[in-house]
Amino acid sequence: MVEPAFDVVVVGASLAGCTAAALYARRGLSVALLESSPDEGAYKKVCSHFIQASATPTLQRLGLAERLEAAGAVRNSGRLWTRAGWFSLSPGEEAGLPEYGYSLRREKLDPLVREWARDTPGVTLRMGHSARELLRSPHGSICGVEGVGPAGAFSLRARLVVGADGRRSKIAQLAGIEPQVLPHNRFGYMAYYRNLPLAFGNDAQLWLLEPDIAYAFPNDGGQTLLACFVSKARLADFRRDLEGQFVSLFDALPDGPAIRKAERVSSFIGMIDLPNLYRRPTAPGLALVGDAALASDPVWGVGCGWAFRSAEWLVEHTADAIREPASLRRGLARYRKEHKRRLLPIHRLNAGFSVAGPMDPVRRWLFSTAPHEPKLARHIGRFTAERVSVFALVVQGLWRVLWSKLTTGRRPSPIGGSALISLSRKG
Ligand SMILES: Cc1cc2nc3c(=O)[nH]c(=O)nc-3n(C[C@H](O)[C@H](O)[C@H](O)COP(=O)(O)OP(=O)(O)OC[C@H]3O[C@@H](n4cnc5c(N)ncnc54)[C@H](O)[C@@H]3O)c2cc1C
Repeated sequence: MVEPAFDVVVVGASLAGCTAAALYARRGLSVALLESSPDEGAYKKVCSHFIQASATPTLQRLGLAERLEAAGAVRNSGRLWTRAGWFSLSPGEEAGLPEYGYSLRREKLDPLVREWARDTPGVTLRMGHSARELLRSPHGSICGVEGVGPAGAFSLRARLVVGADGRRSKIAQLAGIEPQVLPHNRFGYMAYYRNLPLAFGNDAQLWLLEPDIAYAFPNDGGQTLLACFVSKARLADFRRDLEGQFVSLFDALPDGPAIRKAERVSSFIGMIDLPNLYRRPTAPGLALVGDAALASDPVWGVGCGWAFRSAEWLVEHTADAIREPASLRRGLARYRKEHKRRLLPIHRLNAGFSVAGPMDPVRRWLFSTAPHEPKLARHIGRFTAERVSVFALVVQGLWRVLWSKLTTGRRPSPIGGSALISLSRKG
């Protein structure tokens, strides 16, 4: 039998891949980290990089939080607007758990994370190396990758291959792992602006306009990212006059930013098709992390955090098992279960909302009560920080709605039922 050259080969040196590589190496394993881009400064352009508070404990454990802060990352939090008004999405103070996430542009974030992984003893970073094929053992399990690098074709054997190669994952495709696809009926455009003060200072703003969505995220370097996700029914209008449509949408927002007075400092970045994708994250000898395993509606800003966290879970469950095939199988099964348990319910909720249809009654009741019920708002904030489950959100949330109704006599919703239907009929 040929001895593997590395314990682990990780394909893709972005957020998920660098995290997996550095953490395996910290556990004493030898890791090859392959990246198809030849440029160590390369970064993902189509991302609004709002890293949720749920990822902050992981970033702190990795030692990345302080590097992000040193690079100028903004400690983020957000406010949500529905037709019933604004409420804060802060999860509130909890013992040992930070209330904030981070916002740092990917042009800074990606090189910073790559440099951190590259400098971790035990990691061999190979830029300009594209994986093209998987190697398989006589029993069919995956045991390495083949590809092309600056010096020509390469072949690397490993005990575990990690696919961290993004939403279009070639590695998943080669392994025969088909994505479960849930439709996404909005397209998106975004751009960066300077001199754009926001209504709530450093708090990000998210408008649920039904069916469209807009957001404003403050970032490092005094740059604010504006993005809109619009029902595909309006795509032709945006294609005809992108800037005009974008500016009018932001102009009309309640408490919206003064977009006409600000300076746009980037071109518009567009994304037309954003299907929600889930892939079973393991196969014999293989694990998928980050977007390769789960690419959920970007509106909710979960992907970067899930990239860091899924890589951490994978290493936690497999690092000590890698040299013994039966233990590795069990470790991979534990990772698959944890990934599914933690992320799939939220992903399904996100996907349900991304069809751009009317708001479901539960969401409507919660969102319409939260602006005048601070406890409910905090509960929703704790859900977005993934400190309570979907089930707990629904049960406790509806109890809060009922409580509010009983104690204040308020009707469930200024945006509720018939009010909303009549608004949408008019519009
Ligand atoms: C419009 C939009 C807005 C978003 N906004 C947010 C947000 O506000 N907050 C948030 O948390 N998330 C957001 N996301 C999601 C976020 O961008 C992703 O979840 C995150 O980048 C996933 O990281 P990753 O490391 O898994 O994959 P990626 O960042 O996609 O990296 C994959 C890497 O693999 C490399 N690669 C690919 N194929 C190969 C190969 N064959 N060989 C070698 N290397 C390869 C690529 O070059 C790349 O470096 C957004 C996404 C979109 C589309």
